[in-house]
Amino acid sequence: MKLLEYEAKQLLVASDITIPSNSLVIDTATDTTTISLPTVIKSQVPVGGRGKSGGIKIIQKREELSDKIQELFTLAIQGFIPRYLLSEAVLDIDRELYILLTINRSDESIELIAHPQGGIEIESHSSEEFFKRDLSPVGFDALGDELADYYSLPDRAFLLGELVEKLYHCVIKNDATLLEINPLVLTKQGELIAGDCKMILDDAAHFRHPDWQFEEMPASANFVTLDSHGTVATIANGAGLAMATVDAVAKAGHIPANFLDIGGGATTATIIDSFTRISEFTQVTAIVINIFGGIVQCDTVAQAIIEARKKFPQLPRLYIRLSGNRKDEAATLLAIENLPLYDNLEACLKELAT
Ligand code: GDP
Ligand code: MN
Repeated sequence: MKLLEYEAKQLLVASDITIPSNSLVIDTATDTTTISLPTVIKSQVPVGGRGKSGGIKIIQKREELSDKIQELFTLAIQGFIPRYLLSEAVLDIDRELYILLTINRSDESIELIAHPQGGIEIESHSSEEFFKRDLSPVGFDALGDELADYYSLPDRAFLLGELVEKLYHCVIKNDATLLEINPLVLTKQGELIAGDCKMILDDAAHFRHPDWQFEEMPASANFVTLDSHGTVATIANGAGLAMATVDAVAKAGHIPANFLDIGGGATTATIIDSFTRISEFTQVTAIVINIFGGIVQCDTVAQAIIEARKKFPQLPRLYIRLSGNRKDEAATLLAIENLPLYDNLEACLKELAT
């Protein structure tokens, strides 16, 4: 389970890790006139790269505030529209550092990975450049010294040791499999503040955390853009079937626009959400839907498709293959809408070629 930034930061605070002050989660109904300026407002979408996509805005003037907020609420980032924004005090940044804790599966330890140049270009560094250490419950002081050396911040050794210790306990306490702070901001005043946070919790540990209540990620979180100029979009359930669908579309001579696994528990909402993602691909002329009704019932899917078509009247032509539970009921529903149902993917793609 991947958390949104504001959710992850709440867990940081509970572990006594410093986040920017004046933190406020905003929805469209929030009275924003009380926000103190300047402020940084950040789109709460489940993907990174918001800085590069216009999803982070520093606002200095009161008269800009409501327009910028409005802009952020309507800006899709990798297809995600935020339900919330996070407003925080603007940091006076001296340096942006990178720090990550993750599970090292080869030796069952928690590994620390760091880089002295954090921020939005972190992907440009090759993996050999990063500082890596397996953590153990003791020895944080020594690690603080090492890290201070690595970051060239000799007078921050104690703070860094303390921070790593808190991050380590935060990972354990929350059954996190990943905790990334990027940027870890060194302010001009010499503080270390978590400017951004990405956290993934272990779904298998849910039973230990009855209090876990995080924003449900839409099914299209398993959406991968393959080619923004693709002409055929795909919707399938199960990663294997979704991959096979993409392959079959390519083999039939088309350019698949995307991979999408809507998962086992597809509902009307998740299917409509899938169409929302696809509708951003302007060159798509056909959508191939390939669903196996195992946990999900075919007629539920059919009903959702019908509702999605009402919501998106301009939808490209649909090529639907449903198989499994309640397929006949699905066929009846789709027939009323003049939507043919194909028995297999081959028949679907044959029709697509004509
Ligand atoms: P991401 O692009 O989704 O990882 O979003 P981040 O929250 O990491 O923000 C991206 C970049 O925006 C950071 O690396 C900073 O350079 C900049 N940024 C974010 N918050 C602040 C802030 O409070 N003050 C300043 N000066 N820059 C900020
Ligand atoms: Mn970031």
